[in-house]
Amino acid sequence: MECDSCSEPAITHAAYSGVHLCETHFRRSVESRVRKRIREDGLLSERATPEEPETWLVGLSGGKDSVVLTQILHETFAEDPRIELVALTIHEGIDGYRDASLAACLELTDDLGIDHEVVSYAEEYGLEMDDVAAEDPLGMAPCAYCGVFRRDALSRYAEQYGADKLLTGHNLDDEAQTAMMNLLSGDVTQIARHFDASLGSFESREIDDDPFVPRAKPLRDVPEKEVALYAHVRELPTHMAECPHASEAYRGEIQAHLHELEDGHPGTRHSIMAGYEELARLAAEAYRGDGAEMTDCERCGAPTTGGLCRKCELVDAVGGELPSR
Ligand code: SF4
Ligand SMILES: [Zn+2]
Ligand SMILES: [Zn+2]
Repeated sequence: MECDSCSEPAITHAAYSGVHLCETHFRRSVESRVRKRIREDGLLSERATPEEPETWLVGLSGGKDSVVLTQILHETFAEDPRIELVALTIHEGIDGYRDASLAACLELTDDLGIDHEVVSYAEEYGLEMDDVAAEDPLGMAPCAYCGVFRRDALSRYAEQYGADKLLTGHNLDDEAQTAMMNLLSGDVTQIARHFDASLGSFESREIDDDPFVPRAKPLRDVPEKEVALYAHVRELPTHMAECPHASEAYRGEIQAHLHELEDGHPGTRHSIMAGYEELARLAAEAYRGDGAEMTDCERCGAPTTGGLCRKCELVDAVGGELPSR
């Protein structure tokens, strides 16, 4: 089969668009979707100037998604004096998993010549995810602890570093799964929060009062398989193994259903996201200002609805310790 844009052999066929693309045109197509998303989300603010550039912190795990995101952002903005990119890797303390993916992160950031920082749960919270998963004092899935620690580490570091935006490598499949999980949970306030936290464009979100550094997901229009193919054709250093504690069973179920739907009805993920984003915008407009008042956590100062923040509660439960700051 030939590429639809030239006479080279096609390496991919996207059922949802019916398009066949050769390697060159496939690469261009992924890059142009990411750049279009960056434009549509209004990521590059008018306040960013060569004299006062914005710092964008990229969450780099070493997996295909964050590696592809870092590569494309670098190629788009390396020559742009209005933007400074910094990659941040979280080391959770998972034997044999994070060390290997950290090697991929170091190789990439070395190749690209961008700043790279590593933050570990051991230093930040006095714990390792391997111990948390083994002990599991609250009887939760390991990811339930890990997600809280990761969010806290990313936002606190973003704040310390004076980052203006935090970018993560969530792809179309990740976002469609989250959308379905939120819809099926029936929690409309969660959908509203999702819009202001990371989904809407910067112009349409209410972020001024938000105590967290604003987040964005420039890969969210690109299906997971295409992210993987992009990483492969460009021979980017990625770490493919799965975390041994991966345990989001419900997300896995939704993922399986979505694959089935997508196979029978190509374009399902795109249409879910188009409808969900609009619903989330309406929910955000209706629910803004209804949230609980935020105060500072008594112990660490992170934003919380009262007393100790969730991270501090979990650090206590697992016997960790915050460093004295
Ligand atoms: S799979 Fe779960 S435990 Fe493993 S790194 Fe991700 S969130 Fe943490
Ligand atoms: Zn072509
Ligand atoms: Zn706290």
